[in-house]
Amino acid sequence: MRLLAIDFEATCDEPYNPDPQEVIEFPAVLVDPGGRTAEFHSYVRPTAHPKLSSFCQKLTGITQGQVDLAPPFPDVLRQFEEWRLKTCPDALVVTSGNWDLASMLPRACAQHRLEVPKWADRWADMKQLYAENYPRGSDRSTQTEIASGVGVALEGRLHSGIDDARNIARVVRRMMEQGVIPENTALWRCSGCGGE
Ligand code: AMP
Ligand code: MG
Ligand code: MG
Repeated sequence: MRLLAIDFEATCDEPYNPDPQEVIEFPAVLVDPGGRTAEFHSYVRPTAHPKLSSFCQKLTGITQGQVDLAPPFPDVLRQFEEWRLKTCPDALVVTSGNWDLASMLPRACAQHRLEVPKWADRWADMKQLYAENYPRGSDRSTQTEIASGVGVALEGRLHSGIDDARNIARVVRRMMEQGVIPENTALWRCSGCGGE
């Protein structure tokens, strides 16, 4: 089965996030048991609050220049959809936690008056896969704990979307080698698209 790791980065600040919070990095990494690698990556220009806080730039490593030059969310979502249809139309999305597809994507679509795409109705949450399949797992395990629990070293920079997505792909590939079969964990979200 093919999986597609997605990990959004978004505008943020202390003590409160900007409202609306907006996607600023959209990465997707194919997890193909055949070893084929494919990646989609774009920064995204926030339109409601175009200036990134210094807190956000420090957390994510994303610069003002990178988002200033990037397309806005509707264009990136369209480019992603073209890439996805060409590359892996049948892949199940895998994420770290439920925030990306249960919260951030629907809010971004609502802001831009777009329909939430069908591919985002179901996904496998790596944290839930870990909690259900590993004795040391709990639904509070961090990305670092999960990686060391399955025996994978995290690479790159935490909170860089593309590095996070590549690490999710590495962890889930290892889980599959260890016998885990990733399935839709968002059953609460979509009746009729269950864990078949
Ligand atoms: P992550 O995938 O863990 O890098 O987080 C995704 C997004 O959640 C980030 O781009 C931030 O908008 C927000 N976020 C993550 N961690 C924090 C944090 N410690 N403080 C504030 N916002 C955060
Ligand atoms: Mg994340
Ligand atoms: Mg991230």
